Amino acid sequence: MARPSNKNIQAKLVLVGDMGTGKTSLVLRFVKGQFFEHQEPTIGAAFFTQLLSLNEATVKFDIWDTAGQERYHSLAPMYYRGAAAAVVVYDISNVDTFVRAKKWVQELQKQGNKNLVMALVANKCDLESKREVNTQEGEKLSEENGMFFIETSAKTSLNINELFYEIAKRLAIAQ
Ligand code: GDP
Ligand code: MG
Repeated sequence: MARPSNKNIQAKLVLVGDMGTGKTSLVLRFVKGQFFEHQEPTIGAAFFTQLLSLNEATVKFDIWDTAGQERYHSLAPMYYRGAAAAVVVYDISNVDTFVRAKKWVQELQKQGNKNLVMALVANKCDLESKREVNTQEGEKLSEENGMFFIETSAKTSLNINELFYEIAKRLAIAQ
């Protein structure tokens, strides 16, 4: 049987969100399958690549992680330049990071790419007993901004692959 025609997509993906929300941990979980309780805030290659195969396409992610610059609540334009996908991360056990997530969404929208695939990620879902942001609040913010919403845990691996698969699918549809 002939293989269906397969698209090759290369996509820059950026992560934004407050320090300590788990951006680096999400990437390391996805790319290396690892998790560290004491992830160093400013350590990390800041750049990773990862292939993901769908039926209809192969997506090569160029993942840009911050190296602590989010401390200043804003990132340089070159960080966003050419991005096809953006992931806004907050920590369900810290409501301040959710309040700040709204600002990160605004910063993304200032970049002016209407085709940007945007995800809102509620991370640290293993910390249910410390939850300060409920699921509905996250869903509402994502709906208002044309994002998709997913609750994850880099610690337990909950929904990590699902997050990147969903982004890949949306990129494949858009191409
Ligand atoms: P970043 O500053 O956004 O890159 O956040 P990090 O990835 O450095 O994570 C900050 C801290 O949160 C580290 O101590 C991680 O171990 C921890 N962390 C990250 N993701 C999770 C998670 O899903 N659950 C829990 N319990 N801790 C997490
Ligand atoms: Mg980090």
